[in-house]
Amino acid sequence: MDTVTQVESVRGPVPTADLGRTLMHEHVFVLSPESAANWSDEWDEEPQVAKAIGKLTELAGAGIRTIVDPTVDGLGRDIRRIARVNEAVPDLHIIPATGIYTYSDVPHWFAYRGPGALPDLPEPMVDLFVRDVREGIQGTDVKAAFFKCAIDHHGLTEGVERVLRAVAKAHGETGAPIMVHNNPGRNTMAEVRRVLGEEGVEPRHVLLAHVGDSTDADLLAGLAGAGFLLGMDRFGVDVILGFEARVDTVAELCRRGLSSRMVLAHDASCYIDWIDPNLMAFSPNWHYMHISNDVVPALFERGVTEDQVEDMLVRNPRTWFERG
Ligand SMILES: [Zn+2]
Repeated sequence: MDTVTQVESVRGPVPTADLGRTLMHEHVFVLSPESAANWSDEWDEEPQVAKAIGKLTELAGAGIRTIVDPTVDGLGRDIRRIARVNEAVPDLHIIPATGIYTYSDVPHWFAYRGPGALPDLPEPMVDLFVRDVREGIQGTDVKAAFFKCAIDHHGLTEGVERVLRAVAKAHGETGAPIMVHNNPGRNTMAEVRRVLGEEGVEPRHVLLAHVGDSTDADLLAGLAGAGFLLGMDRFGVDVILGFEARVDTVAELCRRGLSSRMVLAHDASCYIDWIDPNLMAFSPNWHYMHISNDVVPALFERGVTEDQVEDMLVRNPRTWFERG
C-alpha cells in the first residue's frame, strides 16, 4: 500500500507531519440517541457543546494537537455536532472514524440487509464504510480516516464477526487503518488476529484498542512483535486498572524496546450518557488532561525517555495513518 502524507480530519485533510502530539482514542460525546430521546433529560445541546469547546481548548493549550475519535454507529456519532465543536477549537485536529460498535448483534437496521436476511444478501456494510471514507459521513464532506469495530466479553459472535470482516474488506478497498476495541481479560485479540489474518489485513494497519487494560507484558510484547499497534488508551479508567499498573506496564514495554508499538489515550469524553453522572466522581482522573499532567511525568520517573514518549504521542500515530 502506498504511503499517504495526509489524513482526513473533521476540518479536512491535514498533512500527517502536522498531527503533532496525538491522543489516539478520545471521544467528544458518547451518546445513545434513541434511549436518551425516550428517557433522559440530561442532554442540553448548547451547554454540552460549550463544555466540550472549553475542555478541548484546555487540551490544545496543553500542547495536544490531535485527538483520534472512534465514535461510530453504536456510540451516537453526529459528525455535524463534532464539526461545530471543532470550528471553535482551531488549534486541535479531530480525526473521525467509520464503523459499527457492537459487542454482540449487528444493529437492527442491518439485521435483514445482507448476510442472514432470508434469502442472504450481499454485505452492505462494506460499501457504506467505504462511502464514509471516500465521500463523507452522514451526508457531509467530512471523511472518515479509519475504521472502528469492537469485540468484548461475548467473544466472536455472529454480529461481531460480520462487522470485523466488513471492516477488513473496507480496509482492503481503501487502505484506511483499523482500530479494534478489545477485552484483554478475555484475550479477544486472538480472535481479531485470526479473522483479520484470514481477510489478509496486515497487523501494522491494526490498532488493538484497550490492550493497556492488561498488565501482561509478555502477551502485549507478543502482539507488538507480531506488528500490531497497542492501545495504552484508558488512562484514568482506574476502575478497570489503576494508574500505577498502567504506567508500569507502558514503562516495562518501553524497557523492552517497544515504544514504537504503543499509543496513549484516555478513552475519555466530554459527556457519556452510559454512566450515571453521580458515578463520575469515582473516576476523578478520567479526563483529557491526565496524560499530560500525570502520566507523562510518571513515565519519566520510571526511566522512559523523551524520545520514547515522542514515539507514543507523535511518531506512532503519524506512521499508522501513513500506513507505514
Ligand atoms: Zn472508546
